Amino acid sequence: MSRIEKEIRECVYCGSTDDLTSDHVPPKLLFPRPRPSNLITVRSCRVCNQGASKDDEYFRLKLCLRHDVGEHPAAKETWPTILRSLQRPEKKGLQQSFFRSMFQTNRLSNGGVYLGTGHGYKVDLARLDRVAARITAGLFSHHFGYRIPETHHVEAFSVESLNGMDPQSQQTAIGVIDRVSQTVPHLIGDGVFAYWYQQAVDSELVVSWILTFFLRVSFFCMVVPR
Ligand SMILES: [Zn+2]
Repeated sequence: MSRIEKEIRECVYCGSTDDLTSDHVPPKLLFPRPRPSNLITVRSCRVCNQGASKDDEYFRLKLCLRHDVGEHPAAKETWPTILRSLQRPEKKGLQQSFFRSMFQTNRLSNGGVYLGTGHGYKVDLARLDRVAARITAGLFSHHFGYRIPETHHVEAFSVESLNGMDPQSQQTAIGVIDRVSQTVPHLIGDGVFAYWYQQAVDSELVVSWILTFFLRVSFFCMVVPR
């Protein structure tokens, strides 16, 4: 149990103080065994913890589907290289192009069918975004030592849904992502999960996050006022 987890005596998702459990952020099921030693846990009530398990399963299914499609051992071998590159401060341009390339390669039709491969398949993006928002809430409390206050909430977008935005909003989002991606990456598991975050200069409660799974599927999440 982490130091912060001990300090937080409420569910980081709903604030309940009843029947508290330990919840993995991101869900433990994403990590193949043997699981990494630096998994993050947060306080969660049993209702929130168990209530999310179906969404978590769906999340893993869809991610692994995409992860496996077009996955070659050779590509997998390049992960350590990519990870190392992303951690080098002098490689900021590379980090930016890494995320920009995700915008270009992850294409969806209007109906939510993933078109990045030979045969598209349907993805419930809102459901994936919901899991990403939950992970962000957990990471927020892990890093800052308190639950996101009621005045704020998480807005989560898969990179695909950013593609559907109007050009101006998209430019704004890409600008934020470029900045956030220049901060220090946090890595858990061998290429399974990486995240970056940056607080706004004028409000410590406003925080932008990038979550990347399997170095392939990314979400852009923001803790913002309701
Ligand atoms: Zn709860």
